[in-house]
Amino acid sequence: MPNNACILTEGDEDYEKSLVRWADNAIKKAGIVVQAASLDDIVKTVKFASKNNLDFAVCCGGHSTSGGSSSEGGVVLDLRKLNNVRVDVENKLIYAQGGALAAEVDDEAWKYGLATVLGIVNHTGIGGLTLGGGFGHLTGRHGLSIDNLVGATIVTADGEVRELSASKNEDLFWAIRGCGINFGVVYEFIFKAHEQKEVFAGLIVYPPEKLESVIEAINLWLKDHREEDGGATFVFARFPPDLQPVIAMCLFSNDPSEQVFRERFATIYKCGEPLMEQVGCMPYPKVNTLVGDFVTFGDRKGILNAHISRLNISTLREVYDSYVKFTQENPLAAQTFINFDIFGSKKFASVPPEATAFSPRKPFYNVIIAQRWKNEQDDKTIYDWSKSIQSTLERDGDKSLYVNFVDIADNIGYDEERVKNIWGNNFQKLKELKRKYDPNVFFRKGAVIWP
Ligand SMILES: Cc1cc2nc3c(=O)[nH]c(=O)nc-3n(C[C@H](O)[C@H](O)[C@H](O)COP(=O)(O)OP(=O)(O)OC[C@H]3O[C@@H](n4cnc5c(N)ncnc54)[C@H](O)[C@@H]3O)c2cc1C
Repeated sequence: MPNNACILTEGDEDYEKSLVRWADNAIKKAGIVVQAASLDDIVKTVKFASKNNLDFAVCCGGHSTSGGSSSEGGVVLDLRKLNNVRVDVENKLIYAQGGALAAEVDDEAWKYGLATVLGIVNHTGIGGLTLGGGFGHLTGRHGLSIDNLVGATIVTADGEVRELSASKNEDLFWAIRGCGINFGVVYEFIFKAHEQKEVFAGLIVYPPEKLESVIEAINLWLKDHREEDGGATFVFARFPPDLQPVIAMCLFSNDPSEQVFRERFATIYKCGEPLMEQVGCMPYPKVNTLVGDFVTFGDRKGILNAHISRLNISTLREVYDSYVKFTQENPLAAQTFINFDIFGSKKFASVPPEATAFSPRKPFYNVIIAQRWKNEQDDKTIYDWSKSIQSTLERDGDKSLYVNFVDIADNIGYDEERVKNIWGNNFQKLKELKRKYDPNVFFRKGAVIWP
């Protein structure tokens, strides 16, 4: 291997550090960690692990709560050194290596007044995020991350390097856009870049008694303004320092003007005096830092997902009350939160479900039940409560799921219904492609046990 790859085993100075993940429960004791520094390192590591039939995981940002980027005793291919981002300004393309974080892409593109669609928390890795679909503030205007992916270089289970695009290895290119982590290691992504101005955005926090009026205001806003350039996320959370329950919102207007922002969110501002308001004009990358400090590394974590098609006040009241009660009774889980993403959906829903492996191509609001707690003995209590919240929310939506918010712990064994909920009718084709490109199921961390 080239000199700058680094191989770590237990006892080496950086070994423990290399195992750290966003969720403590995703940390596993790898047999070997390979910190790759080149495409060749990836090829050699895949061939070595595959030939020796070793458990194998790839790590980019380390944000999956499932342990999908960790291995107990096996090989971890750590891509964090492969984080170079290059912008081709003339052709409006971003070449990002498979270990880059969203922040690294946002910041480099912004130097040229450009951006692509990545997530709203810039410390997530682009690897997992893109390969599952990828939602963010720019989704309303430009669709999902995969809708902006024009090419990739991937190493498949046989150690082959393959270039993927709409005209090269089209079947694999189709598969990695929504089911990517099951098909190979992406060395490089190529994204479309879009011209991007400064934005007006920020956080606004309301007290609990405003719940009904906030939801009503959001519904009014959605009636007239569910649009490409305005988005919101709202969260049931307990805010530091005293961890009082609140309704916090991150409002996003893809326009630098304060007037446009105030007009866009006028119904929300009619809810009355917020507890806290921090809004302003900012460079685009900054908007993806606004909530980062509330979702730090550390503690045990799990994520459950629901897709709802309407914001029903009585359901949300039930969910809110349950949230407050649960976090009061379980103070070590007080940093748990429930997040509702409201991004414009026209663009991503205009792509047919069979055009890429990502199947839930319809308008929905993504709900994330993000659990955070301290002790292993509470795992089941937290999980059971989260499941009950998921079922309550499903009353206002369906059972479709976004693979990036599916915790593998929630997916023990092969579950036909679960697979349908994630990939819909695309699963049959994915199964055939899995047999073609990875018949021995070398990539096995991807939210499904292949039948
Ligand atoms: C705080 C937080 C905020 C989030 N916000 C958003 C959001 O705004 N929008 C959104 O869509 N999602 C969001 N997510 C979900 C996120 O997309 C997933 O957690 C995703 O798996 C994170 O990718 P990662 O590279 O950081 O994770 P990792 O744990 O490193 O990897 C996740 C999976 O992807 C595989 N993988 C990673 N890189 C590669 C690669 N280069 N080639 C092949 N396989 C690879 C790994 O093997 C693993 O199975 C968020 C998650 C968190 C925790």
